[in-house]
Amino acid sequence: MPIVEKSLVSVDRVEHLEVEGIDVSGDWNTFLRSRVVTDLDVKIADWVKGQPQGETISRCWQCGTCTAGCCLHTDYGLEEFNPRYFIYLAQIGYEEELRRYASTIWRCVSCNKCVERCPKGVKVEEVIHTIGTYLELSGGAAESPADRFDRAYTENLLGRGILDEAALFRTYERLEGRRTPARELLRLGLTLLKSGRLHTGPFAHRTRGWNRMRKVLEAKLTEDRARRRASVPAPPVPSGRKP
Ligand code: SF4
Ligand code: SF4
Repeated sequence: MPIVEKSLVSVDRVEHLEVEGIDVSGDWNTFLRSRVVTDLDVKIADWVKGQPQGETISRCWQCGTCTAGCCLHTDYGLEEFNPRYFIYLAQIGYEEELRRYASTIWRCVSCNKCVERCPKGVKVEEVIHTIGTYLELSGGAAESPADRFDRAYTENLLGRGILDEAALFRTYERLEGRRTPARELLRLGLTLLKSGRLHTGPFAHRTRGWNRMRKVLEAKLTEDRARRRASVPAPPVPSGRKP
């Protein structure tokens, strides 16, 4: 049976229909809206495959085992989070549909259950993160809370070479534009203090020789971002227009 995107299926649902005393209510006239080849751009799969974390994308045979075992999809009932479908859309190059999930993809919690279960050895978690990166770098995807957290985390770690949990929490709150009630802050602070993880302000540690290491890491991060940005294919030309 072919796999078809839900957005292309148009169903005429009849809630109550009787013909000569027989109840024939149900789904009638199921049509697939047409899709033309120019909607698809296989360069996406080529790009994902060319990245160190995306090279296993072409092994996927769409069995759906990853989705069936994914904690977000199954345990948390987040139906729209469907790793098999993300891979499928990237494989066929259906960018317009894929972009609808640009933020959803980043809700992956990296539990790697999908990787353990995949019968084809697809590194599902890495592949879908690479697809998310493609969507970000090629423009149009709004920065998600996960992206903002990544940014805050990286900046925090680069600062002193050791994570300052309290500062990370404050930065993330600022980026998200929210304020935690004072009582909750106190509770969190005490928990961090008791667990010996309150490395902030006067208690702050610093990794020895970190300045040199930070320069190396910053240069590597800048180079990596520039390389990935440069390798993203140009967006597909809409049908009917010349490149
Ligand atoms: S389990 Fe593996 S082969 Fe099956 S759909 Fe998921 S990624 Fe593809
Ligand atoms: S790593 Fe992500 S995609 Fe895989 S099972 Fe966990 S949440 Fe789902």
